[in-house]
Amino acid sequence: MSKAAVSIFWFRRDLRLEDNVGLYQALQSDYPVLPIFIFDEAILSKLPKNDARVGFIHENLQQMHAQLQEHSSGLRVCHGAINSVWESLLDEFDVKEVFYNKDYEPYALQRDAQITTLLQERGVSVSPFKDQVIFEEKEIVKADGLPYTVYTPFKNKWLEKYKTLAPVQEWDTAAHFSKLYPHQGEILTLSAIGFEPSPIKVKPHNLKFIANYHDTRDFPAMDKTSYLSPHLRFGTVSVRKLVNWAFHKNDVFLSELIWREFFMQILFSFPKVANKNFKSAYDGIQWRNNEDDFKRWCEGKTGYPMVDAGMRQLNETGYMHNRVRMVVASFLCKHLLIEWQWGEAYFAQKLLDYDMSANVGNWQWAAGTGCDAAPYFRVFNPDIQQKKFDEKGAYIRTWIKEFNLGYGKPMVEHAMARDRAIATYKAGILK
Ligand code: FAD
Repeated sequence: MSKAAVSIFWFRRDLRLEDNVGLYQALQSDYPVLPIFIFDEAILSKLPKNDARVGFIHENLQQMHAQLQEHSSGLRVCHGAINSVWESLLDEFDVKEVFYNKDYEPYALQRDAQITTLLQERGVSVSPFKDQVIFEEKEIVKADGLPYTVYTPFKNKWLEKYKTLAPVQEWDTAAHFSKLYPHQGEILTLSAIGFEPSPIKVKPHNLKFIANYHDTRDFPAMDKTSYLSPHLRFGTVSVRKLVNWAFHKNDVFLSELIWREFFMQILFSFPKVANKNFKSAYDGIQWRNNEDDFKRWCEGKTGYPMVDAGMRQLNETGYMHNRVRMVVASFLCKHLLIEWQWGEAYFAQKLLDYDMSANVGNWQWAAGTGCDAAPYFRVFNPDIQQKKFDEKGAYIRTWIKEFNLGYGKPMVEHAMARDRAIATYKAGILK
């Protein structure tokens, strides 16, 4: 029997049908389009079997499959080593073209280069598209063509360029669904890929508070941020729709979305930041890296209520408010003198919105080792942060059930830790 000639659209971190650039482009091809998703064993094998992010991906695949079924098609969900999955797709179909949206993380870049070679060797054309950002790679650079390493000029250039396009084009995929391949069948279940549901769930995003965002976003008990981060991470919302909407609503909120793109271009331009200091002058710092201290921090048992509440929120929900992320990160690096990579790795395991560029960028900001980072001598006082941002203790009491006025004994005294941090940094920074 002859094989069906198809174009394939490969979903990855763009789990939506609407306004999806790569899917739209695939639907313009000359062949019926088979949409696929691959559970990559190289990634799954490193995760706990009830990882909430895998559950979230699976739920979104189910939803997309149901939507595609309404158009007499469906999603093909595969599982295995990426290369062998592609080999079997090539055995089963006469694959003419493959379309996907770009992912700029180091592992994805290497995986995509490898698969592109495999496909091109078999005569398949491969078309990658920009989808998860407004501006990618080297689109926002300085006059000399080099990447920005300071946020404000990056943001100014970003806004200047966006204004020439605003609103950026959105893509009407639904108008072309008749081009979908008539794929039948059900998608793999979670248990078929060796996973089980997690009690931790991604919250729906919420944009109702946007008008007062600049006044409320720093107060964790108010809970007035968008909860967009996991949705942007997995592409369940379109960044174009969001930015076109946010542009007229709130500058501060838009700036946060530009921070996201700033850190993405930093990781793209300087891939070493994934695990090394952006400022190599900081390589000489003598970290204490005490494992017992790290364990207390992870468990939310430092004796500092703001730090402990944040870590418990993270452990219980896979989320932590941004202000509190800054406090716990500063505490780990400065008060405990534990290198940022330890905290970054812990967040990577726990955060539903884990995104390498934002995580590494913000951790290096807190440690003072990153581009445009907090100065090393700025050491947050966790108690003052609490007084400023959780004056009535409402956030703390939500996450520390046993909280009372005599709560805990700080594991390290603030003034001593502050002086120790400044002295250690000063001695370690290479001239
Ligand atoms: P909102 O305040 O509603 O912001 C809207 C969106 O803007 C966010 O969803 C996010 O996409 C973007 N954004 C906001 N702040 C930042 C920022 N500082 N850097 C980059 N993008 C930002 N964010 C992640 O998405 N993934 C991470 O792995 C991550 N790790 C972090 C680690 C540390 C130590 C710190 C201090 C911050 C980290 N952040 C990370 C940034 C920020 O804390 C989260 O994006 C934010 O808390 C998510 O909640 P929200 O969607 O309600 O935010």
